[in-house]
Amino acid sequence: MNIHLTFDYELFFGNNSGTVEKCLIAPTNALLSIFKTYNIQATFFVDAGYLLKLKELAPKFQSLQNDLDTVEKQLLAIQEQGSSIQLHIHPHWEKARYLNGNWVFDMENCYKLSDFEQVELEEIVRKYKTCLDRYVETPTTVFRAGGWCIQPFHRLKAVFKELSIQVDSSVIPAVKFASDHYDFDFTTAPQKAHYSFDNDVCVEDENGYFTEFPIAGFRYSPFFYWRLYGLGRLFPSQHKMMGDGLFLAQPKRKNNQLSRYTWNHVSCDGYYASKLEKVCSLLVKKETESLVIIGHPKGMTSFSLKKITEFCKKNHNKHLFKALSASK
Ligand SMILES: [Zn+2]
Repeated sequence: MNIHLTFDYELFFGNNSGTVEKCLIAPTNALLSIFKTYNIQATFFVDAGYLLKLKELAPKFQSLQNDLDTVEKQLLAIQEQGSSIQLHIHPHWEKARYLNGNWVFDMENCYKLSDFEQVELEEIVRKYKTCLDRYVETPTTVFRAGGWCIQPFHRLKAVFKELSIQVDSSVIPAVKFASDHYDFDFTTAPQKAHYSFDNDVCVEDENGYFTEFPIAGFRYSPFFYWRLYGLGRLFPSQHKMMGDGLFLAQPKRKNNQLSRYTWNHVSCDGYYASKLEKVCSLLVKKETESLVIIGHPKGMTSFSLKKITEFCKKNHNKHLFKALSASK
């Protein structure tokens, strides 16, 4: 089986973005050191809007120049380790401001690409990709939408083709969520390791230009979430996130998770990492071709790093840990 470990490389988008050091640099270095030990390649979906904003404002603010320098260095280190950098887009950076040393986000009608008019949307994809591609040896071809909000896909189709973005990894089959900011519904997505599509990420089309590598899903029990939300308070040294910011709220999602079985991604973050081994053995039994696991440097904890290490140690000789790319 091919195992694709993928990490969305980004700050927090709630009322506190957190620091570059704690959300990105330190946890990513910890991950790279694990990957180096086991000679594993992963994929980092880099928040290109953030990078572009940093470049824009660095000449005005020394602190942002320092952030940019540190991030640029790490993007090189990721590639030197053999891992891949691909495109992640959070378009709310369009309206982000830097005030008194903090990022201030206005998410109103700009959290997802579909909030923008067609011309604007295409321009954002072009300029974010161009910005990120300056940091990579071969131009990026793989995409993950910020907050998984890739729908409706037909609005992205032309600009993706123009830019040769051929692969997407935003879909989590069986999962849906809508709020003031978020809007995705993958309940009808094919339950397959990967599939071709053209107009709609949830509809397989053998002749489609694009390939979807969906993020693996798992049906979590409410008890899992009781533990997930409780452990951070009870045992902060093991379960407190390395990232020092605050998430954008996902209203009602938590109540739902605590009261019934819910589908969600298979993830390297925090307590989710306790399921890695179980999901992997389940999929091996089903003879699945590939497994895409999501994660975020900011979501790493001592516990998750320990679980990821165990997972890599146990599986690096049994399975192929590969970066996602357009060549299958
Ligand atoms: Zn993201």
